[in-house]
Amino acid sequence: MCIFCDINKEKIIHEDPYWVSIYDEFPVNKGHILIIPKRHINNVTELNGNEMAYFFCALLFAESFIKEKFNCDGFNIGINQGKAAGQTVEHLHIHVIPRYNGDIENPKGGIRGVIPEKRIY
Ligand code: 5GP
Ligand code: ZN
Repeated sequence: MCIFCDINKEKIIHEDPYWVSIYDEFPVNKGHILIIPKRHINNVTELNGNEMAYFFCALLFAESFIKEKFNCDGFNIGINQGKAAGQTVEHLHIHVIPRYNGDIENPKGGIRGVIPEKRIY
């Protein structure tokens, strides 16, 4: 069974007809949220028009929610798409990772850190 097709309703932070948002079980930082399509799809190319239209509302909600609850200073937002990119759960999900001033020594390059030695340019 796919873990993102079987989410406990009590864990849902936000929901619309197409997306649910939950906390990541192993957060990179305090407040790390996953935005997950209700349909079992694995790739952004499979999103339909309704899902696309609703997505940014879900993202705005996640950012405001995290900011209010955890008072973060920034965000990294990303998708691991494919095993080569580090994806482990094969049901599309968008990571919304809050960042805090000083959480690492030099955050320059942010998401470029998927290849750690290329992060700082
Ligand atoms: P991926 O590597 O596929 O982009 O990310 C999978 C994410 O799902 C990881 O950040 C991991 O911590 C999270 N995760 C794995 N199992 C569970 C779970 O059972 N519940 C929740 N909420 N998150 C999970
Ligand atoms: Zn699924």
